[in-house]
Amino acid sequence: MTQVTVRAPAKINLHLGVGGLRPDGKHALATVYQAVGLYDDVTVVDAADWSVGLTRPIDGVPLDDTNIAVRAGRALTAHHGIERAARITIAKGIPVMGGMAGGSADAAATLLALDRLWDLQTSDDDLLRIAGTLGSDVPFALLGGTALGTGHGEVVVPVEDASSVWWVVVLSDEGLSTPAVYAHFDELSPDAPVAPPVPEALIEALGTGYTDEIGDLLANDLWPAARDLRPDLVDVEVQLRSMAPDGVLLSGSGPTLLVLHEDVEEARTTVAELTAQGYRCTLAPGPVAGAHVVTYA
Ligand code: ATP
Repeated sequence: MTQVTVRAPAKINLHLGVGGLRPDGKHALATVYQAVGLYDDVTVVDAADWSVGLTRPIDGVPLDDTNIAVRAGRALTAHHGIERAARITIAKGIPVMGGMAGGSADAAATLLALDRLWDLQTSDDDLLRIAGTLGSDVPFALLGGTALGTGHGEVVVPVEDASSVWWVVVLSDEGLSTPAVYAHFDELSPDAPVAPPVPEALIEALGTGYTDEIGDLLANDLWPAARDLRPDLVDVEVQLRSMAPDGVLLSGSGPTLLVLHEDVEEARTTVAELTAQGYRCTLAPGPVAGAHVVTYA
């Protein structure tokens, strides 16, 4: 094989329960992830040195060794004790700094693509473990579907999800820094629990697949911090709640906002109305598959 392309999805958090800052500098999470249909495609080819490029220029994505895709490649070769390198090309469809874990998707896609390119036969457990060293959301990008995330988000267990929904994804022109949102969360919530509770009611509702019930149970502890850092989001939120009182959610650390729909035609109508009002939005189904090979040669 000389070239492999892997597609990895964006994630949202149907529930994002955040605990206090741990001694290791990370936050304990109890989160329900869902993979949604916005994707990055990562293509790898063997090369003498590591390099990374984008199919179109995008501000905010580093093109040096700090790119998480290169870090993923290096972590995989270190795990196997091999001296190899690759040229990594990323076609980004996931908003950058949007709270949808685009960088994590690229890391997961790179791990899988290089494993297949070099026929390393890394076990699923090892891939998930390496993914967890790269970032809290990377293991979930491998898994996809809907999953409970604990630890700092890296311990993922699939959740039975009978729902099939459409998310109106309301994009923001400006990104929001995840570390800044967590730092402000710490200021606002000095008494956050050591271990945030697992959202049992939501997990039960996902099992039944009733969209209304799921909409009622959406929750994100980072919302107050994101609102403080980006007061403009409050107007957008009010507008969205006037359209869907129970199905509005901040995606991860924001600033992307989401509106839940069961019916695709209703979702399209919401997109059309918001677009007419000047919002930039798109539609994404959920849940969808995790990182998977789409082409190889
Ligand atoms: P999360 O919700 O996981 O914090 P996000 O979706 O808000 O992530 P990303 O698009 O993943 O944000 O980018 C977060 C940071 O990671 C950016 O500041 C960017 O500079 C850096 N980064 C490193 N590699 C990548 C990559 N391959 N794609 C996007 N950003 C990357």
